[in-house]
Amino acid sequence: MPVTGLEPYDDQNVFAKILRGEIPNKTVYEDEHVLAFHDIAPQAPVHVLVIPKGAYVSARDFAARAPHAEIGGFWRAVGQVAAMLGLEADGYRLLANHGMNAGQEVPHFHVHIFGGGPLGPMISAKR
Ligand code: 5GP
Repeated sequence: MPVTGLEPYDDQNVFAKILRGEIPNKTVYEDEHVLAFHDIAPQAPVHVLVIPKGAYVSARDFAARAPHAEIGGFWRAVGQVAAMLGLEADGYRLLANHGMNAGQEVPHFHVHIFGGGPLGPMISAKR
């Protein structure tokens, strides 16, 4: 089933399993609000995912329903993780896929952090 980003939260999604410790991950950072870990199929020299610990399907769901403390904690952590990974000096890219046109695979909100080298054009879709 394609992810729309609008469906009810499915607690059997792979990131929910990672949060419950049912699937291992290579953690780079964790606090009360977020978990950050290396992507299993990296698409850049550094490719880390940051996810909220709360149950949110998509960026829209997170923005609409998460308490302000979780939203603030999440974005603060994204910046901290990028700094911890040593990406600030040379720069990095943040990306959140939402729904079908974006090809969202996992229905638990997450931000990709890409870095470690030049990342090429922002997007490759045809105009
Ligand atoms: P999306 O397309 O939903 O924005 O990205 C989902 C990402 O999750 C993909 O980059 C994919 O490689 C990653 N991913 C899927 N399953 C796992 C897993 O079990 N462990 C980790 N670390 N990453 C995963």
